[in-house]
Amino acid sequence: MEREEIMNVLGKFDLEMTMLAKQEEERQRSTINIIASENFASPLSTCLEGGIWANKNAEGYPGKRFVAGCELVDRVENLAIERLKELFQCEYANVQAMSATVGNVAIMNAVLKPGDTILSMELSHGGHLSHGASFHYSGKTFNAIHYGVNRETEQIDMDEVRRLAIEHKPKMIICGTSSYPRLIDYAAFSEIAKSVGAVFFVDLAHNVGLVAAGAIPSPVPYADIVSSSTHKTFRGPRGGGIILCKKELAGKIDRALFPGLQGAAKMDMIAARAVLFKECMTKEFKRYGKQVIANAVALANGCLAEGLRLVAGGTETHLVVVDVTNLIPTGKQAEEVLASIGIICNKNGIPFDSQPLTLASGIRIGSPFMTTRGMKEKEMFQVGTLVGQALRYYNDAGVLDNIRKKVADLAARYPLFADEWMPKAN
Ligand SMILES: *Cc1c(COP(=O)(O)O)cnc(C)c1O
Repeated sequence: MEREEIMNVLGKFDLEMTMLAKQEEERQRSTINIIASENFASPLSTCLEGGIWANKNAEGYPGKRFVAGCELVDRVENLAIERLKELFQCEYANVQAMSATVGNVAIMNAVLKPGDTILSMELSHGGHLSHGASFHYSGKTFNAIHYGVNRETEQIDMDEVRRLAIEHKPKMIICGTSSYPRLIDYAAFSEIAKSVGAVFFVDLAHNVGLVAAGAIPSPVPYADIVSSSTHKTFRGPRGGGIILCKKELAGKIDRALFPGLQGAAKMDMIAARAVLFKECMTKEFKRYGKQVIANAVALANGCLAEGLRLVAGGTETHLVVVDVTNLIPTGKQAEEVLASIGIICNKNGIPFDSQPLTLASGIRIGSPFMTTRGMKEKEMFQVGTLVGQALRYYNDAGVLDNIRKKVADLAARYPLFADEWMPKAN
């Protein structure tokens, strides 16, 4: 049976699931999604997901499998690795991690012993839970010390990083963030790591697509290890991590992931992402990366124009952290008011937040998803002003109704994946 025919059968066999998928597509179409960590995956990059490769067990690495029949699957994985190395100009790549978080655990297990000290960014200042949060495996297994941002500038305090590195002599220094809008000084981090003999590890999950597009500087020349997911600014399938590293760490990292943590890799995901890596080398993707940043700046300016305060003074990436307390008491309320008018984002703590994380003083917003849909600076600025107006008049049902209509009209003008981003065949 062909795919379309199977979908018809499924529609009759499991109406519940078919309806849910239809409703979700409609939700994604009719709202303005400014969640900074989401994207609409490129159709090319997802079309091999769940396909023929999903049936193949390929435990092990290319040329070193534990089952037969792997000649073609080896070529798939090698193509993914070679493309990734070319894209990021790195010495070695592993594409088997089931998620970026699992990849991060493998990296730590590869180069650290339980109880070793790591130095990473404070979660509430923009770090990630897999960098030593107390409730995560990394925080339970390793001794995590955290640096944060400067109270005045709200940007990473390199003097504090240096002071903590000298004081605690960490075995690993981690940077890479989930809600930090500024560029990171990888050269300075690398120099500090070298001076105390620490491994320098960059988690690029959020910014990776911008680096791949050449829109912001790459950490690869400075870091010993770089990890990432592939579904955020990378605009590829969810459910997979990548690890880039120096040649001398390759064996340790490979073994820590398989068989140290995982069994057989998902080969369909590897094939799908190999397509993604090729797509990222096209001029369409390079243009996408630059547009994402221009759009984030426009979104930030729209918020500013309505009297909102931007954490760290603005953005140089795809995301903006907004302190909403000028207009509405908490980030939680802001998230709810915005969702009620069709603008989807998430509450987010701000550095030195006086609110608990469950309420938060901010929201995190970003441009990757709406850029994929085709919005440009003018519309993104307008989205920023609609955010500000909705938060200012959060108690006024009439104003909110009016904004809800504008949001619906604006969303209806865009497809989920704009034609302009589809690479030309070559
Ligand atoms: C999102 C994110 C991850 C997690 O990626 P998953 O593939 O969902 O596990 C890891 N690190 C950072 C910094 C992130 O922002």
